[in-house]
Amino acid sequence: MEKIIEEGLRALGIEARPDQLAAMAAYGRRLLEVNQVTNLTAITDPAAAARLHFVDSAALLTVADFAGKAVADVGSGAGFPGVPLRILRPDIRLTCLDSVGKKMDFVRESCAMLGMEDVTCLWGRAEEMPQLRERFDIVTSRAVAELDMLAELCLPLAKVGGLFLAMKNPDCDQEVRRGDFAVRALGGRLREIRRYDVPGADVTHAVVVIEKVKPTPAQYPRRWAQIKKKPLLG
Ligand code: SAM
Repeated sequence: MEKIIEEGLRALGIEARPDQLAAMAAYGRRLLEVNQVTNLTAITDPAAAARLHFVDSAALLTVADFAGKAVADVGSGAGFPGVPLRILRPDIRLTCLDSVGKKMDFVRESCAMLGMEDVTCLWGRAEEMPQLRERFDIVTSRAVAELDMLAELCLPLAKVGGLFLAMKNPDCDQEVRRGDFAVRALGGRLREIRRYDVPGADVTHAVVVIEKVKPTPAQYPRRWAQIKKKPLLG
């Protein structure tokens, strides 16, 4: 795993120290081990996990400057993209949150194993965490919901002047157009869609880069049932 992660990062132009590569490999090994008894990820092949979890997550470092930033990873699951970012940039103050408790238990325990007790793991729904409102410089999210709904989970957590980075499939143009009204209604503005090839994996992914330009109106986020029933579509 270590070698594949190293090669992938190098192809993206990201430097990693040997201890950081070892930490990612150790986290990955534990993920695949625990995954045999607790369902955490659909990816069970070590090489695929190296590329599609660790290298793909790290690709966000080519999109924004994470140095010293407060980062929230919404719907983090087994810790992606948040944990690889924290391993590679130890000065990130990372909060992972997920609505499934056993996933957050896994991330908390695995981070502690690597000496990263500072990573905050919260079990709960992003739209039900008013204490996190406008607290983060960068909010990340991968594979959680369509942008029109995802924006309502993520943008309230970003500070004005901060970024929301939504990791998507490359054919996301229509989804982004559909989500644009919600993004603007929640205080965001689309900056760009950045596409990149995941080294060695023969897939292209995209990062939708959204700036938080004004505060999210107080009526948002709504309850999930409401968000799902009536996404903000203009
Ligand atoms: N981001 C991880 C990744 O890419 O490997 C996990 C992706 S998984 C497909 C989606 C995750 O989002 C699940 O773990 C689910 O529990 C979580 N999730 C869905 N809706 C959520 C919400 N409203 N608040 C917090 N977590 C949520």
